[in-house]
Amino acid sequence: MTVLPTFSDVVAASARIKGRAQRTPVLRSRYLNALSGVELFFKAENFQRVGAFKFRGATNAILALPEDVRQKGIIAFSSGNHAQAIACAAREAGVPAVIVMPEDAPAVKLAATRGYGAEVVTYDRYSQDREEIAARLLAERGGTLLPSFNHPDIIAGQGTAALELMEETGPLDALFVPVGGGGLASGCALVAHEVVPDCAVIGVEPAAGDDARQSMAAGHIVKIATPRTIADGAQTTSVGDITFALMQRYVRDIVTVDDAALAATMRLLAERMKIIVEPTGCLAPAAALAAAPQWQGRRVGVLLSGGNIDITRFAQLVG
Ligand SMILES: *Cc1c(COP(=O)(O)O)cnc(C)c1O
Repeated sequence: MTVLPTFSDVVAASARIKGRAQRTPVLRSRYLNALSGVELFFKAENFQRVGAFKFRGATNAILALPEDVRQKGIIAFSSGNHAQAIACAAREAGVPAVIVMPEDAPAVKLAATRGYGAEVVTYDRYSQDREEIAARLLAERGGTLLPSFNHPDIIAGQGTAALELMEETGPLDALFVPVGGGGLASGCALVAHEVVPDCAVIGVEPAAGDDARQSMAAGHIVKIATPRTIADGAQTTSVGDITFALMQRYVRDIVTVDDAALAATMRLLAERMKIIVEPTGCLAPAAALAAAPQWQGRRVGVLLSGGNIDITRFAQLVG
């Protein structure tokens, strides 16, 4: 039996990460409000430490471990924002971290993860299985494996983003949140259900990888092949059992956005709001703008989940 995190776990997470994670701003845009006819509130996690909300879950999960367990170190596998988040959060907590990353991961990401003081163990993604490598490291060295989404303390940490947003905005009619493995969406939905029960939480996936939408429709977890999309933070092949159980309870609907809409939204946010949001971070605003006719005159929250993108790649995508 898996234990689902509760609202009080999010409140505890909020106290734990206070002063460590940024309380990111809630941005408004008169232009986008006029364009859409919706009152939009953007929670800007592109300004979070390490550039994405994942620092919240990583910090909470590490600090929630008993001191003696924590000191044995943290192991994680990720080629994306979870790697940097664990590396940075572990350093701040004064504990060692080992991150398993593909050897052909972008050099900047390998360097950033090492730069936060983590040991990076590389593998060949075509011939080796990262979960096996992580399991072997765990057996050899001990420590705690922290996954990027399917873990109660990770989910509770991610939920603090919605808690801060709703503390600031008061009641919202809807909240758009991106979905990869569903850690952010399930944590935020848990909060919305408790704080503003009438708020419709809408999960947003890349059109090329709508496994969460299929899973919700089927009533069981559907696994897909790795989707091809510029939303690299949402290239997951399935949600987890914990995130799925929470999404089934608290997420109203799942919608999708294609890569062209993501690129157009990156450009719009840069031009009008002067912010750099990575492709995966544009899932929620792209979906909120597309759904605007349904939310005329209403108050809608939008989670901008991260801003990590190579600037040359950014220029290519918006050019
Ligand atoms: C990881 C990530 C997501 C997806 O989060 P899940 O908890 O896996 O659903 C969305 N946006 C960004 C920027 C991410 O790094």
